[in-house]
Amino acid sequence: MALIVKKFGGSSVATTEKIMNVAKRVLDEKKPGDQIVMVVSAMGDTTDDLIKLAHGINKDPYQYTREMDMLLTTGEQVSIALLAMAFKTLGAKAISLTGPMAGMQTNSVHTKGRIVDIEPERVKEELDKGNIVVVAGFQGADQKMDPVTLGRGGSDTSAVALAGALKADSCEIFTDVDGIYTADPRIVKNARKMKEITYNEMLEMARLGAGVMQPRSVEMGEYFHIPIHVRSTFTTKPGTIIREDYTMEDK
Ligand code: ADP
Ligand code: ASP
Ligand code: MG
Repeated sequence: MALIVKKFGGSSVATTEKIMNVAKRVLDEKKPGDQIVMVVSAMGDTTDDLIKLAHGINKDPYQYTREMDMLLTTGEQVSIALLAMAFKTLGAKAISLTGPMAGMQTNSVHTKGRIVDIEPERVKEELDKGNIVVVAGFQGADQKMDPVTLGRGGSDTSAVALAGALKADSCEIFTDVDGIYTADPRIVKNARKMKEITYNEMLEMARLGAGVMQPRSVEMGEYFHIPIHVRSTFTTKPGTIIREDYTMEDK
């Protein structure tokens, strides 16, 4: 029996068909007794579209950071509800939880929040009831229970932090590339896929702009000593493991 956190990014849940495929894959790969926590991003370009909506009201909507967070957190709320429904449609027990419901406590720095604590009691309760728990990435709440987002790409951080707080056996980040490459494979054609990479190397790449992982998520992985498996939503081949040290001879 294993407790597994699986994060699916926006392109992985961009349509209802893709959401159904994610649910099918997770159920196919689930072993009896496995406990699964899903962390999901907003569908496709939803977050960008919500930002555009705000620009329709004011040319500088980020001056209203609290309201931006109120707006942006709706994106992930759509995808968690649909994914939980997809699991139920396929006959599995599932429940969706917003970030705050999952115990994600943040500071009050709206739109660039930091997780200050995680109390995932509700997540554990629902897992014990046999549910697949579908958690909204990118969001938490501050002490006033106001919504706070974690910066663009923040669902990575939600997933790794939750995996740490739950002492999960593994954390898988499913995305639209099949692993971490030496450079962005969409731009650099001869970029090479790596089997493993250390937290420090990944952190350096992420800080230099490799958007595949939010830098804070890599720091979380290192803090909690959680190996992070970055892999493709659309194929089953192994991706890249981000961990403390190399385990293989060939780097
Ligand atoms: P998600 O929506 O799943 O979070 P992102 O768009 O945030 O996905 O991250 C995946 C993208 O990161 C890839 O499509 C790729 O273009 C880009 N990327 C940038 N640098 C790298 C790298 N070194 N290795 C792999 N992907 C990278
Ligand atoms: N939906 C948010 C974003 O587009 C968070 C994420 O995708 O990780 O930045
Ligand atoms: Mg991302």
